[in-house]
Amino acid sequence: MKKNQVQFQAGMSLMTFLDRYGTEAQCREALAKARWPGGFRSPACGHTGHCHLAQRDVYQCNRCKRQVSLTSGTLFAQTRLPPRTWFLAIYLMTQHKNGISALALRRQMGVSYNAAWLLKHKLMQAMVERDSEQALGGIVQVDDAYWGGERHGGGTGRGSPSKTPFVAAVQCHPEGHPIAMRMDVIPGFRKTVLASWAKHHLAPGTAVVSDGLNCFPGVLEADCTHVPLVTGGGPPSKGHPIFGWVNTVLGNVKNALHGTYHALRPKYLQRYLSEFCYRFNRRFDLAALVPRLIVAAARTPPLSYRLATLDV
Ligand SMILES: [Zn+2]
Repeated sequence: MKKNQVQFQAGMSLMTFLDRYGTEAQCREALAKARWPGGFRSPACGHTGHCHLAQRDVYQCNRCKRQVSLTSGTLFAQTRLPPRTWFLAIYLMTQHKNGISALALRRQMGVSYNAAWLLKHKLMQAMVERDSEQALGGIVQVDDAYWGGERHGGGTGRGSPSKTPFVAAVQCHPEGHPIAMRMDVIPGFRKTVLASWAKHHLAPGTAVVSDGLNCFPGVLEADCTHVPLVTGGGPPSKGHPIFGWVNTVLGNVKNALHGTYHALRPKYLQRYLSEFCYRFNRRFDLAALVPRLIVAAARTPPLSYRLATLDV
């Protein structure tokens, strides 16, 4: 049997991770590089000359004397956890195919459950924001999807009140294979909602392929074209090879979330969906996920506990 190149890649081994990020000094150096790729710059005046005041652990600009800590203004701020602990969490979260729960993170990291939970949600928020910078384009298959409700007598089918609706979108190569995907929690499947979603997340000129649900022509307002495929609830149309992918990835994300997380509150669903998509979109180079998420977190503003737990 031919091996799937994506599934069989080595990723980053724990040994390699420890070689690169095993000490606090290594992690601080990596964080400084991620934050200031061209070397330190004063956030106040842009000057690069600086010194490190060891006693207070801050960098001071030689010109304006502004002092900044290594983590201030980044996602790593406002926490007592050292960079080494954060980096271990980044490793564990990116190298597990189906994600890792806060409970499992807590055990691996030796911190409290609340600390592990908050750290995980901060990193997931960085993933939400990173992938929102990149619009899908070309040929994109979209479908309506729902989370939850099955086990609480909320009924099944579209529009059940106990279910959380989200759009699933997969950008496909003209030959059919998936390139990138995103999943976004939305208030409901209405034409105006889909128009707004498409304006934020699809490049103009995108060819949107969907089933015949009435809201999808809303993407026309975002200068996209719409190709409706009427399936009548049956199996995906065989004449369109790209139609199957969105169903496949939806099956994968639901299995992953059900398997890894026992109780997933709807208000946090976006972060879990984005975490899954973030890994999927970078699946061709798993080892690079660790330095890439470090860079993303270094460029994401701090997220307070209040914001992390706010209704989103
Ligand atoms: Zn300065």
